[in-house]
This record gives sequence, structure tokens and C-alpha cells, in this order.
Amino acid sequence: MSRSEHTPGVALRVGVLGCGNVGAAFVGLVDSGATAISLRTGIDLEVTRIAVRDLDRERPGLDRVAFEKRATTDSGAVVTDPQVDIVVELMGGIEPARSLILQALTSKKPVISGNKELLAAHAGELTAAAESAGVDLLFEASVAGAIPLVRLLRDSLAGEHIVRLTGIVNGTTNYMLTQMSEEGLGYNEALAQAQSLGYAEADPTADVEGYDAAAKAAILAGIAFDADVSSSDVHREGIVGIEASDIAFARRLGYEVKLLAVVERADAPGGEVAPAVGAPPCVAVRVHPAMVPKEHPLASVRGAFNAVFVEGDAAGELMVYGRGAGGRPTASAVLGDVIDAAHHLREQSRGRPARRRTPLLRPIADLRSQYYLTLDVADRPGVLAAVASVFGEHHVSIRSMEQTGLGVDARLLFITHMALEADVSATLQALRDLDTVERVGSVLRVIGSELA
Ligand code: NAP
Repeated sequence: MSRSEHTPGVALRVGVLGCGNVGAAFVGLVDSGATAISLRTGIDLEVTRIAVRDLDRERPGLDRVAFEKRATTDSGAVVTDPQVDIVVELMGGIEPARSLILQALTSKKPVISGNKELLAAHAGELTAAAESAGVDLLFEASVAGAIPLVRLLRDSLAGEHIVRLTGIVNGTTNYMLTQMSEEGLGYNEALAQAQSLGYAEADPTADVEGYDAAAKAAILAGIAFDADVSSSDVHREGIVGIEASDIAFARRLGYEVKLLAVVERADAPGGEVAPAVGAPPCVAVRVHPAMVPKEHPLASVRGAFNAVFVEGDAAGELMVYGRGAGGRPTASAVLGDVIDAAHHLREQSRGRPARRRTPLLRPIADLRSQYYLTLDVADRPGVLAAVASVFGEHHVSIRSMEQTGLGVDARLLFITHMALEADVSATLQALRDLDTVERVGSVLRVIGSELA
């Protein structure tokens, strides 16, 4: 069908806050794809206003004249413009994004956002504002870019009793760990390579220290468990300090090292597995590197890709995989949300109402896992016995141990049986206090079943 034969659908006008990597890609997708979108969905989308900080900056991929006609530095004016039906926030950061979104929702305009930092800190406030206004607040792009994960949890698995989500949700660290594993690179070399390819920022702190993954874990916990969880509730450890030798050891045992975001339903304190109906959910949310068995689907997620492994009571296990970042992949997720919101506006309906309860958060100290840890010790008689007795005193049972020479010192590599995190922390503290222990090196949790 040619454009002239196409019957116009319902016209919906979009105001976009921010026109950087994702915003420019989103405007490009709508500008170039409006006819195809209309044919598929019956909705005529048009970007009518765009807010930026710098009107003179180049916007690669966008027609300059068409951009200038719509652009302004007054983002508030985009929100209040009567020519804007839906607001797309792609500026990032907390303010002014938070106030602009609240203003849009209060004016009964649906909002689409990809802002993980904001949603991980203020999801409760923002979803409550959307609820009371009766309009959509959609944020598929805030976790795992193009992967339809929020929609999967919110809609397809709406009736599912989610047990656990285990995700690789940061492409930068997954790229680095893949290079360390497959090319034998050290941490610094892998970071330099990620920076030269544009996967890592000049200041990589948010990625390598796990802040970015923690924000996504908080958002996922919120959706999976209808819980008000923020980044500060997430136990966070990054990949700094992981050495090529840890990864080589893990590989030798049949494991890959991955930075995981783990969001799980936990037993209530006192061991009550099934709390009363209507009781607040009891959840544990954490980000840390872990040894993942090679046969686990997450072990084969390489490079900058993301994946989330979902375990549900009735649905069983499933995994979603794809590009977790980048302008066009992320803009595709934004566009999907805009089309959903447009349908809802047309039908005067909205998506499933979000319910947020304050959860009971289980501290990491209460959780159990197997652990891998390394110690650099003086290589002399009696040291091993002293180290072993520290493990025993703290109820941590050693599954296997290897020793390698380090000049006059030795490196000991341990894998434990399942142990309580609090006991392992106490063990590490006591080991640090031993005169013969020079250094406690990497500590990694080992996921999957107990090693045979
Ligand atoms: P970006 O390239 O830095 O773009 C930000 C845009 O917002 C720029 O156009 C900037 O204007 C504009 N802006 C910032 N503050 C503003 C203000 N106060 N008033 C008006 N305009 C303002 O960021 P991005 O990578 O596109 O990311 C956008 C959002 O998507 C973030 O929340 C990010 O977390 C999220 N996200 C990004 C990715 C990704 O792969 N990049 C993936 C998932 C989610 P100027 O251009 O004039 O400076």
C-alpha cells in the first residue's frame, strides 16, 4: 500500500525530553517509521517537540531543519504544550527529570522513561503519581535495553509466582569478563579495551562497581514482587579486584565468572516460606560476581549482551537475551512503550495498575551459598592447619583446596560447601587477623548445585 492509500489512524503527538544517544535514535525511528507504525497499529505517531540543553549540538542521523523546528531548551514547555499527548523522558539523572515526569503525570499525560537512575530511586513516588492520575508510566528501556523484560514480568507473567530472577544486566562488565575469560586479559587490559570500543565510560565506576546493575536489580525487584525497592536496598559488589587467575581457575573447574543481579523471593525471618496472603513480600536483592556453571544458560552470554534467567513457580525456567544498551536497541523498547501508551489513550484505558508495597528485605548475611576464595599466605609448616581451623571455628566447611607457589609465599584457592554469608564474613575477618595470611584475595559466590 502506498502512503497515499493509507487511511490515517489516530494522531498522537509525542514530546521528547532529551535527544542524545537514545532520544535521537527514538526520534529517528518515529520520523522514518511513522507510516509503517500506522499501518501496523492504526496510530499516527508524530514527535512534535524536543527538549535539549544545547540547540547547536550535532544530532547525528537527524535532519537539522526538522530538528530545529521542534527543538527547545525549555523542557517544561514541552510537558505543558497542548500539542503533546505523550511525554518521553530520555534526559537521564534525577532532576529535572523527576519533576518533569510528575508534572506530565499530574496533567494526565502518559510518560515513557528509560531513566534507570531515577526509577531505581523514586519508582514508588512516580508509580503512585501515575496511579492517581490514571495514566501509564512505562519504563521498558530502563532495564536491559531492547529486551522486553519489564513487559514479560508485568504482563505475560502477571499471574506467576516469581521465585528468582538472575540477570546479566550490565554489558560493559560482561564484555570485560568475557575478554578476561576468552583472551586471558588482565582486568586493566580488559577495561582499556572496553573503553576504546565505547562500551565503558572514561569513568567506569558505575559499571565496574556494580551501581548500574544495582539500579536495574532494584527496578526488577519492584516489578517482579510489586515491591518498593531502591538501589540503596541492594547489596552491591563489583568486579574490581577479580584477577585473570580467578577466571582461569573457575574455567578449569567448569565455570564462567559473571556479574549477576539476583532478585529472589526469600523465606520470611523465622523460616516461614509462605507468608500470609497479603503480607509484604520478603525479598533478597543483590549484585555480585559469581561463578556460573558452564551448562547454565547465563554462562554462554558473551560480550556486551544481556540476559535474564527467570524462575517461576508454574512457568518453570525461561531466559530472555539481547542487546542491553545502545541508542537504537534502547529506542526500540521506548517505541514499544509509546505505542502501548498510545493504544491505551485511544481506548481510554491503561496498563495493569502497579501495586507497590514495602517489602521485608533479607540482608545478605542471612543467605547461603558456596564460595570461592583465595588467600596469599606464608609458605611454611602449620599455616594450612591454622587456616583450616579458622574455617572450622566459623562452621564453614571446605569442599576443595588447591595451592600454587608465589615465591616465598603460597596462594591457596578454596571452594566451600554451602555456607551462611555471615559465617563466611566472620571467617574472612578472622583469616585477615592471622599473621601468616598476607592477603585475602577474590571472594566469589558459586551458583548452581553443590559441586560434586
Ligand atoms: P545522553 O546521550 O547523555 O542524552 C541525554 C540528552 O538529554 C541530551 O540530548 C541532553 O541534551 C538532554 N538533557 C540532559 N539534561 C537536560 C536538561 N536539563 N534539559 C534539557 N535537556 C537535557 O543519554 P542517553 O545515553 O541517550 O540516555 C538517556 C536515558 O536513557 C538515560 O536515563 C539512560 O540511563 C537511559 N538508557 C540509556 C541507554 C544507552 O544505551 N545509552 C540504555 C538504557 C537506558 P544535549 O544533547 O543538548 O546535551
